[in-house]
Amino acid sequence: MKKVYEGILAPHDRAPFRGQVVIDLERGHIEEVVEQNTAFKTPDHVFSDDCFIFAGMGDLHIHAREDETGEQMHKEMYQCAADAALSGGCVHVSAMPNTPAPVTTNERYAWHRARIAEIKHPVSILNYIGIDSSTSPLGAPGEHFYKLYFGKSVGDLTVTYASELDAILSRYRGHHVSFHVEYEPIVQASAGGRTHSDRRPVPCVNEGLRLLLPIIEKYEIKTKLCHWSTGGESFELIQAYRDRGCDITLEVSPLHLLFDTSMTDADPSLWLKVQMNPAIQSPEHRAALIQGLKEGFIQYLATDHAPHTEEEKYQAFAKYKDEFPGKTNIEIAQALAEKDKERYLATCVENGMSGAPWLDTYGLVCSWLMSEHGFTPQDIARVASYNPGQFVNPHLPRQFPTTDFGKGFGELKAGYVGSLTILNTKKQTTVERTNLKTKCGWSPLEGRTAPGAVEAVVVRGELISR
Ligand SMILES: [Zn+2]
Repeated sequence: MKKVYEGILAPHDRAPFRGQVVIDLERGHIEEVVEQNTAFKTPDHVFSDDCFIFAGMGDLHIHAREDETGEQMHKEMYQCAADAALSGGCVHVSAMPNTPAPVTTNERYAWHRARIAEIKHPVSILNYIGIDSSTSPLGAPGEHFYKLYFGKSVGDLTVTYASELDAILSRYRGHHVSFHVEYEPIVQASAGGRTHSDRRPVPCVNEGLRLLLPIIEKYEIKTKLCHWSTGGESFELIQAYRDRGCDITLEVSPLHLLFDTSMTDADPSLWLKVQMNPAIQSPEHRAALIQGLKEGFIQYLATDHAPHTEEEKYQAFAKYKDEFPGKTNIEIAQALAEKDKERYLATCVENGMSGAPWLDTYGLVCSWLMSEHGFTPQDIARVASYNPGQFVNPHLPRQFPTTDFGKGFGELKAGYVGSLTILNTKKQTTVERTNLKTKCGWSPLEGRTAPGAVEAVVVRGELISR
């Protein structure tokens, strides 16, 4: 059995062209890509010329919250995170290890692999392994991919000082490690800042980077820097180490691409949606990140999907419980906004929970990048399909021992997984709460209209219509 999909194909290495993707349903792989009209087969489905057909997209940075403790499953679970991914156009996601019981041992890793196998979701979910001061690699270099929190964010997996970092990474020579980078002593010294960006200023990222780079060079760590938030000086530092032969790739999150501090200055209530670690910075940094992603300095569009509840995002309002008895944090905020606007806005810039849900809107973010920032379909294919595929492909056989992924994700070529993401760049989508699949049930983009839509997703040859 085969399925033939026809339309404008958008690969990472050439301009879009009209073609057909023939997918073998038994294997779930692309059997052939046909580009000669004369050789076209009878299609099972033709996507209109308003659409681009990408190799299935992937998000390398999500938090799914589920683990054997069950403590955070009111926020998210593998099932709903994967539903949100599919809704956003992603066919594979990689989950971070900072669950209540961090994924740092073979036993815990096995629990997650068993759980993911059990839910049999069409979205392929992979797991990072966590690193802290007491951990050692779970295999030879290249067998797993790891996450290290250099600086405290959410959860308990944290490394604070460069001396500690050196001692730990000496055990991970040649391994693949993704880093959260914020230098904790600067974060602590900035604790009195007015806004989240003042409390986590550019130097805490750049100083963390300055300390990290010599260590990753020394131990030949294959490095991915997560949710990069600063341009300028940090780009120069990274380039200098790349020039010395270091293997360093970067992620950028939609939050840092779509928001900057000029927006939160104009409307401080935005902080309730966009507080994240590392913090958003000035418009210049945002522009550098957009440019960096477009030009290839940054490799991955990765969301850092962090499904916290709205109640948690509004936690700064809990201190008014006596003034507004019996109300939730959100209700207190609403009541205070009417009663005392100034105090409401002042509270919005206080410390809330960092992180926001993004998986549902992955494809929409791609449409923004194309329509507002001049990304070509080829650029989108590179940052959303090809590069994420290159990252996960070596790990698929180990994480999914009973599934044949062929050459893996990320390319519209024979032998790759027959999974496709189809974006319609003429259809608009308004982000509404009722359409979200994430369990936490809100989005920082609610009410905004994106200049595109996820038209459909194909998983191993099967069309999953929206
Ligand atoms: Zn994260």
